[in-house]
Amino acid sequence: MNKIVVVTGGSRGIGAASVRLAAAAGYSVVFSFLKACNEAVALCTEIERAGGTALAVQADVAVEADVLRLFETADREVGTLTALVNNAGIADLRMRCDEMNAARLTRVFATNVIGSFLCAREAVKRMSTRHGGHGGAIVNVSSAASRLGSPGEFVDYAASKGAIDTFTLGLAKEVATEGIRVNAVRPGIIYTDIHASSGEPGRVDRLKDAVPMRRGGYPEEVAKAILWLLSDEASYTVGSFIDVSGGR
Ligand code: NAP
Repeated sequence: MNKIVVVTGGSRGIGAASVRLAAAAGYSVVFSFLKACNEAVALCTEIERAGGTALAVQADVAVEADVLRLFETADREVGTLTALVNNAGIADLRMRCDEMNAARLTRVFATNVIGSFLCAREAVKRMSTRHGGHGGAIVNVSSAASRLGSPGEFVDYAASKGAIDTFTLGLAKEVATEGIRVNAVRPGIIYTDIHASSGEPGRVDRLKDAVPMRRGGYPEEVAKAILWLLSDEASYTVGSFIDVSGGR
């Protein structure tokens, strides 16, 4: 059976590293992006030049119609889904809880939590033996923040990742007899643009000395854990978390 994976937020960072590794591992990759059209096109070109298959779809995971279009495009253009990486996620500007407004909270939870639910729903509909599918794997990208709480920075983001942890446990048990394995990775502080987006480009270097390994991580180090969880090597691994956080 062809291996076909949807990676959300595949244009940059951990998502792009996952797209590259998945393509190298023989997956046909469909990935979504929000705004980074040039990066998405460049990544498709890079993968096709290396002999792989990749298709980029502009789709906001927080918008249900976009999620439906993403998965319908994958069905039509590539084939039957076998895997999902729920990677798209955002952190807003650093602030205390007593400064956060409802618009910010709605944006963070809509992208990080509701987006992951909607994408998982579409994947389960296609992969579950209950719905006539042939099984598959889902990896949710949580964060070490779910354990740490991110005080003074973004407790909303950390709480959204706490929701992802609980979602991972519940969904994993719900579909375990339907041929689908659901797991999560919890990255620590990784060198990507997410820190610049939340107003502090140098955040990894500011915090790295508090990491037991005394360094930040790289997107490829997270992607390797994601690819392992997707693979048959992880055939008895369900509802599990891999902390890719240098011991943090
Ligand atoms: P990033 O470099 O900022 O990339 C985020 C990706 O998500 C981009 O491809 C972006 O698309 C996409 N995206 C953002 N909002 C979206 C939306 N509403 N719909 C669809 N796509 C959307 O982030 P990253 O650091 O690689 O983070 C990836 C995941 O890892 C996130 O879930 C994040 O919470 C988690 N994580 C990261 C770290 C870290 O230190 N970097 C640590 C723990 C967990 P565009 O390129 O089009 O904007």
